[in-house]
Amino acid sequence: MADQEQLDVRNAAGKPPEEALFFYQGESEVVAPGVFFFPKMGTSTVFECDDRLVVVDTSPRWVAPRTIEELREKHSKAPVETIVYTHGHIDHTSGAVGWRAEAEERKLPRPRIVAHEDLANRFDRYKLLREQNNFINRVQFDLPEHMGMWDDSNWVYPDVTYRDVLNLEVGGERFELYHARGETDDETWVWCASRRVLCTGDTFVWSSPNAGNPYKVQRYAKDWADALERMAGLRPEVLLPGHGPVMQGESLIQDALLSTAQWLRTIHDQVVEKMNEGKWLEDIIREMEYPEELAKKPWLQPIYDHPEFIARNVYRLYGGWYDGDPAHILPAHSDDVARELMGAVDSKSLLERARKLREDGDLQMACHLADWVKKGEPENREAWELFRDLFAERAKVERSLMARGAFHRAVRLAEAHLAELRSA
Ligand SMILES: [Zn+2]
Repeated sequence: MADQEQLDVRNAAGKPPEEALFFYQGESEVVAPGVFFFPKMGTSTVFECDDRLVVVDTSPRWVAPRTIEELREKHSKAPVETIVYTHGHIDHTSGAVGWRAEAEERKLPRPRIVAHEDLANRFDRYKLLREQNNFINRVQFDLPEHMGMWDDSNWVYPDVTYRDVLNLEVGGERFELYHARGETDDETWVWCASRRVLCTGDTFVWSSPNAGNPYKVQRYAKDWADALERMAGLRPEVLLPGHGPVMQGESLIQDALLSTAQWLRTIHDQVVEKMNEGKWLEDIIREMEYPEELAKKPWLQPIYDHPEFIARNVYRLYGGWYDGDPAHILPAHSDDVARELMGAVDSKSLLERARKLREDGDLQMACHLADWVKKGEPENREAWELFRDLFAERAKVERSLMARGAFHRAVRLAEAHLAELRSA
């Protein structure tokens, strides 16, 4: 009961509980003696250690000034000795710019930054692919065309790195830093044994794990499950996630960590088993089973990533890109295939069929048909309008933010194309 109450209290925002959790943002809280938690998009945690502070994750650059202000006004004026990055994502590290600037302004010693040894490679890659990252984030998060958060000045490189485990001592307080691959290959999770506080980074984010992101580089479902089980073995009292509210109470935390591990493990193991049976990706996807009792957990809702994406990503980790269709090993461009197809069949009846499918509620199949027609006949307004309306409809009901990003993008592209056709 206490567990459910905790969830209810956290979600008085009027949204269904599970929809609010990943996106939850609130005021800072004292979550254990001398532990201040800042639940922003990219959380930040501050540990008071005698006369100095340890910060785990900086919050993003555009939020850090508020985080620092709140810390200084409500909790502590002590200098920050150490900043730990749980991983190199922008929403967890880019605020370092603000923390460093604050130290400089107050003439305090420059905080040292500690992270896993692979984190610098990530920052290097972000510099190499700056514009690609700006583009792909506009798609994933449905951002306006001009918007780009990727800037080389975001990346404050670590001063101290480690490989597997690092014990840090700050102001007489001991922190254990553990490396695990999960959402990223440069991940660190932090355990403060004396206060039984666990900082998970994005290994726990109050939603089905971001282990299948369709837009980004590889994630590691099995290692992720291992890490969650290792965390549970420490029996934390307080769990501070990378996104969403604090979780308190040993039994609730055990359930959250272990059920998430089980979720990842069943998806991973099913894909591996079917790969060993010589199956191709689309057949594997069709056969996947997602255990219902796990799918019901409030922290496993597909509101950001989607479990089907996790299955695809497990296949991607172990297999190649070939999908088993020999026409696809050295294929023609799909626009050209569609043009040939529309030269051979009647596009009107295809669109009619798509409308019928839409009426019958099969939006997924209707999208495929509309897509073939608009590709094969780029000047067919009806096809583009149907394509736009279908994806707008899917965006309205789709719970996964990442899937919605692609749907919104389709609507925008169709609108732009239709405007072009009108002006031609
Ligand atoms: Zn994050």
